[in-house]
Amino acid sequence: MELPDPVEVYVPASNIEAHLIEDLLRSHNIAAVAVDDVSAVGTWWGGSLPMIHHPAIFVDRQHAEAARELLREYETQRQRQRQAVVAGDPIEVTCEACGAVSTFAPELNGTTQQCSACLAFVDVGELDWPVDVGEPEDAEPNQDGAGEP
Ligand SMILES: [Zn+2]
Repeated sequence: MELPDPVEVYVPASNIEAHLIEDLLRSHNIAAVAVDDVSAVGTWWGGSLPMIHHPAIFVDRQHAEAARELLREYETQRQRQRQAVVAGDPIEVTCEACGAVSTFAPELNGTTQQCSACLAFVDVGELDWPVDVGEPEDAEPNQDGAGEP
């Protein structure tokens, strides 16, 4: 998928979050692309973006404002949840690469960290992400007048 004029609108904490936000925006009829592991992959659909070293959400410039508004709402809910989990217990994560168990602070729930044994990236916790941001409106397909008589 391509965006004619991609604008970065959000820096997610993890690849899980990146894809969640991608789905969230798409459910609001905003074409979004999550670029993850860019530091490792270094590629983009049309080339490379060497300046980006983190997961990022891109939308087309025409949707940037709407996307940012949605993401502000998302961020508010997210912050509330994060405060709730900080009071929780340490999180144990079993590394998929080497099987070692690493323990992470509860506030790292929902982020990507490194295995303490082999430094592979591991996803910490299974934070319930806010998925009910806004209500998907019965938006009419935006066709720019296509099909008009
Ligand atoms: Zn490991």
